[in-house]
Amino acid sequence: MIFTPTPLSAAEDALRHEVRDWLDGTLPADFRPGLGLGGRHDPDFSRALATRGWVGMSIPRQYGGAGASTVQRFLVVEELLAAGAPIAAHWIAERQTAPALLRFGTEEQRRWFLPRIAAGECFFSLGMSEPDAGSDLAAVRTTATRVDGGWEVSGTKVWTTNAHLNHFFVVLCRTSASENRHGGLSQLVVDLSSPGVTVSPIPLIDGELHVNEVVLDRVHVPDDRVLGEIGQGWAQVTAELAHERSGPDRYLSVLGLLRNYLAEHGKDLDDAAATAFGRIAARLWSIRQLSLAVARSLDEGEAPATEAALVKDVGTIFEQQTVETVREIAACEIDPGGSMFQQLLAECVLNAPSWTLRGGTTEVLRGIAAKALTGGGAR
Ligand SMILES: Cc1cc2nc3c(=O)[nH]c(=O)nc-3n(C[C@H](O)[C@H](O)[C@H](O)COP(=O)(O)OP(=O)(O)OC[C@H]3O[C@@H](n4cnc5c(N)ncnc54)[C@H](O)[C@@H]3O)c2cc1C
Repeated sequence: MIFTPTPLSAAEDALRHEVRDWLDGTLPADFRPGLGLGGRHDPDFSRALATRGWVGMSIPRQYGGAGASTVQRFLVVEELLAAGAPIAAHWIAERQTAPALLRFGTEEQRRWFLPRIAAGECFFSLGMSEPDAGSDLAAVRTTATRVDGGWEVSGTKVWTTNAHLNHFFVVLCRTSASENRHGGLSQLVVDLSSPGVTVSPIPLIDGELHVNEVVLDRVHVPDDRVLGEIGQGWAQVTAELAHERSGPDRYLSVLGLLRNYLAEHGKDLDDAAATAFGRIAARLWSIRQLSLAVARSLDEGEAPATEAALVKDVGTIFEQQTVETVREIAACEIDPGGSMFQQLLAECVLNAPSWTLRGGTTEVLRGIAAKALTGGGAR
């Protein structure tokens, strides 16, 4: 385990304030914050952020990024999530597709995709889950068959967030039969506007239409859109999950809720409520230190998949318990049309169950940690 203390330098701390000031001046006074990574899909905001160099920050300069460290990106992202900024358009591309392209992509792919990602012009979704392959990701049945000049892909992906709005998704699929179920898997970059791609919404409990089913029917993917090596999809996707699981998006979904409750009712807190808020703040700060330690170790070239799994486990459970605690303290009816706090509470109550599912369920994350402790691995 590598959860080493991660102090911030003065320059890192100054960056945080720069982002905070920019957000104060950019988001309108009546801005309705999103819940962390539930922030709205707003390409204009993504592009404005990109002009500051704050999208794809850790992409090296020769590929159009800022050449910043993972920790610097962490600090920018933390401020964006804390403000509930509309980050959904560039989120996946910048959080995990860009690092995957840097690690596994060809030079040609890096030169084509990375500058567009850093400019906030090229948005990605994730094509991992399938109807019978969620936690058990190695069960994917989407298949790519070799054809002249590339691959022909058929299958069904589900829960594909924002596939109806984004440009590409990285599809985990079978490219050959293998006795080892982690073998024979590959990653292909699929253009979501390709012939044969059908995107259909899956309505969520709050009526929102963020997630989709994506059916691929003999979709042609040229050879130059293979990500990494054919047959190495499992190792690649596992490395990617270290970026997906450990960030501030796994513990900051509730910050807007807390802030708005305190803004509306902070003066009336009794001792018990003040103690509860103190405990929440202490947990939040501790989880943040764990998440920051994972960011530092990514900068040092590690692939801390187990530590990332643990951060997601404790972070998302913290988020769910915080919603319950605040709901008990507030002791009010759920009113999606009420004050800002009540709107956020309503959204939290409906969305909190998904926080411990997406990106790997709690049970599965604990399985990963247990395997690592006994010398095994994998999702
Ligand atoms: C809002 C939202 C957005 C999402 N966005 C995306 C996306 O963009 N792209 C994408 O690819 N996926 C996405 N997902 C899918 C997400 O990653 C899966 O939901 C998750 O991996 C769980 O898979 P499942 O839903 O098939 O549940 P299942 O795997 O069927 O699990 C059902 C239950 O069984 C438990 N379980 C399963 N296996 C084990 C085990 N071995 N040991 C103990 N318990 C186990 C689980 O913990 C869970 O409680 C999203 C999900 C949500 C909710």
